[in-house]
Amino acid sequence: AAGGSVVLSAKGLTKEFKGFVAVKDVDLSVREGSIHALIGPNGAGKTTCFNLLTKFLQPTRGVITYRGQDITGLAPAEIARLGVVRSFQISAVFPSLSVLENVRIALQRPQHLATQFWKPETALSVLDDRAAGLIRSVGLDAFINHTAGELPYGRKRALELAATLALEPDVMLLDEPMAGMAHEDIGHIADLIRQAAQGRTVIMVEHNLHVVEDLCDAVTVLQRGEILAEGDYQTVSQDPRVREAYMGS
Ligand code: ADP
Repeated sequence: AAGGSVVLSAKGLTKEFKGFVAVKDVDLSVREGSIHALIGPNGAGKTTCFNLLTKFLQPTRGVITYRGQDITGLAPAEIARLGVVRSFQISAVFPSLSVLENVRIALQRPQHLATQFWKPETALSVLDDRAAGLIRSVGLDAFINHTAGELPYGRKRALELAATLALEPDVMLLDEPMAGMAHEDIGHIADLIRQAAQGRTVIMVEHNLHVVEDLCDAVTVLQRGEILAEGDYQTVSQDPRVREAYMGS
């Protein structure tokens, strides 16, 4: 999977905030079908990179390319419509609605107006079949009629993943998908991400290096806005500069 062609790339990606350089000259090549981790100490620029790749932030300099197309000038919604989709934040899951209703809403989001799946005449039963399939795939069958707000934390993250998958992303950006999770939930979400990565590409910010080792084909290490190292986990984790950045030793 890691040997696929480059699906998303950045060249010279730079972001300055009032003279402070948060991301500096970052070159990134994400290969089709890979699970690509973005790691680095706090303040390294990981979140800013995510915001730049999805155009939630406008880069100061640099070019972003998706499947050979320059997408630097596109708006976030246009990028999402092309299939580069950022995971929903938990705040985007409607707490008073059921699991089914949340996934149904995601299936009806505007991105889908441009695809073959969603047509105005699509029957609710078709939507619900599709929603139920997604809910099953993230292990939430038993919770389908539960209110999202009453789900345990790990299940909420699974719902968030189902809602993201509902958008049929080609490239899925996950921002710390295991953050705040119990140990047993981490394994569950890792399985889900591995499954979700079949036929698509995943870029994830992740702090848990065990997860990165277990799950990711490619790793880019950022430090103070610059790339410190990149490669597979073994290569990167043996790099003395990475060890120093992480262990502070
Ligand atoms: P990470 O996600 O790796 O922890 P961030 O991308 O959040 O790092 O932040 C990188 C650096 O950029 C930090 O020093 C942070 O304080 C700074 N930064 C991020 N967003 C802004 C902003 N909107 N204005 C000013 N500085 C920012």
